[in-house]
Amino acid sequence: MASDMLKFVDVAQAYPAKREAEQRADDFREIADRYGVPAAEEQAGRCAQCGVPYCTVHCPLHNHIPDWLRLTAEGRLREAYELSNATSTMPEICGRICPQDRLCEGNCVIEFSGHGAVTIGSVEKFITDAAWDNGWVEPIVPGPSRGQSVGIIGAGPAGLTAAELLRVAGYDVHIYDRHDRAGGLLTYGIPGFKLEKPVVMRRIDRLKAGGILFHQGFEVGRDASLDQLRDRHDAVLIATGVYRARGLAAPGAEASGVVEALDYLTASNRKGFGDAVPDFDSGALDAAGKRVIVVGGGDTAMDCVRTAVRQGAASVACLYRRDRANMPGSQREVGHAEEEGVEFVWLSAPRSFGGGERVETVEIGRMRLGAPDASGRRTPEPDDAPPEVRGADLVIKALGFDADDLPLLFGVPDLRVTRWGTLRVDNATLMTSLDGVFAAGDIVRGASLVVWAVRGGRDVAANIDKYLRAKVKPERKAA
Ligand code: FAD
Ligand code: SF4
Ligand code: SF4
Repeated sequence: MASDMLKFVDVAQAYPAKREAEQRADDFREIADRYGVPAAEEQAGRCAQCGVPYCTVHCPLHNHIPDWLRLTAEGRLREAYELSNATSTMPEICGRICPQDRLCEGNCVIEFSGHGAVTIGSVEKFITDAAWDNGWVEPIVPGPSRGQSVGIIGAGPAGLTAAELLRVAGYDVHIYDRHDRAGGLLTYGIPGFKLEKPVVMRRIDRLKAGGILFHQGFEVGRDASLDQLRDRHDAVLIATGVYRARGLAAPGAEASGVVEALDYLTASNRKGFGDAVPDFDSGALDAAGKRVIVVGGGDTAMDCVRTAVRQGAASVACLYRRDRANMPGSQREVGHAEEEGVEFVWLSAPRSFGGGERVETVEIGRMRLGAPDASGRRTPEPDDAPPEVRGADLVIKALGFDADDLPLLFGVPDLRVTRWGTLRVDNATLMTSLDGVFAAGDIVRGASLVVWAVRGGRDVAANIDKYLRAKVKPERKAA
């Protein structure tokens, strides 16, 4: 065992320093600093090099965590990067935004021994950021041309991952995305204080330089049908994510000033890029000076409350119908929001919105937790306690997302879906009910995580490759 390791008793767990809440609430930069080399080596050296590494087991990518921690601790940073890069197409992004407390770090044995988990995500981020700084991130080198092409619908992490791996395998790869910029929710959903946009854009630039063709502003169902893409390509991947926002059945919810979370976050992210955004510039999607109420308890709600703080809201409250212990969002993000001055009103839900055409008040009903549902979480039910009425100028609905009706939107009734509307795929091949049409990411799993989208993209690329190798190349129209 290398002497650089097993230091978890002598070296305390130390995440990179966070900027103070007052400082970070003024801008959209990431809140945590990056490790310097000595701190990264020291923290990596806390790893116990477990024979059965539970961190790896619980990482959806099964990253070789103890191995790249050891290489980092030994100062062999470039080798650490190469190993970390071998299983992930975007390690520095996962290192930033994975809910590590539920995945790798939450299952680190050192955490259970009371010493505090190895800071795996922060080390992962450090390794690949260092690789970018030092020019170790190699350009994509396409394999020998296979003379076949793949059309990918959706430039989120699932589509981008599959694109990279298929390009390396020698395919012509075309990505179609309805937005003007690639990245999916990495670009327009997740705010810069969790994931700065240049970190995403440099990945996309690398894919473009590797010969992947991006067709931005191209909406399948509007600019081409799925069948037209099937004609154009030897295989098609659907990686469109899930975007149908869940509604709020409360009187007055249609008033102006009651907005969808993703409209709000997209506008904010676009402003970060310097775009003209009429709905933001008019004030409709800008929280500045407003009393903001966000409804929901997931990561999207956390991103909304923290965005509102940065836009200069007069006050920000989050209503969630369960309690803190039963919320779906990361506890780490709740902690950040609290530090930044967000008020959480647990066990509460909006009953109605007052003010007429424009929202002015929210009547907030109390909730209590009843019996556990099928998922084991206790079901919230209305409580008899008297409701509270609060003033509000902007209400943001962050109640989660379901799948769009893709068979209808794409004009292919034979595309089979599950009862949740997500695409049904064959577990062994990841192919949908249509020959040569595959699917990955949130559109298969339902709203999930970036790291699972990367995993889906990795798995589906391998299956598309297998399918195309077995396929006799048909005559097809030029892409
Ligand atoms: P997406 O990222 O949604 O990308 C799909 C792409 O397909 C989009 O660009 C869309 O424009 C495009 N598209 C859709 N329909 C069409 C069409 N008809 N034609 C052409 N293009 C189309 N996960 C984490 O791990 N950590 C986090 O901190 C985190 N924070 C989040 C915050 C928010 C606000 C949200 C909404 C999600 C967050 N997630 C987070 C979840 C994560 O972003 C998603 O699980 C992940 O992005 C899914 O990847 P995907 O590639 O399947 O889809
Ligand atoms: Fe942990 Fe996510 Fe990195 Fe896996 S990808 S090691 S879960 S931070
Ligand atoms: Fe190291 Fe923790 Fe993983 Fe064990 S579980 S190998 S101590 S990071």
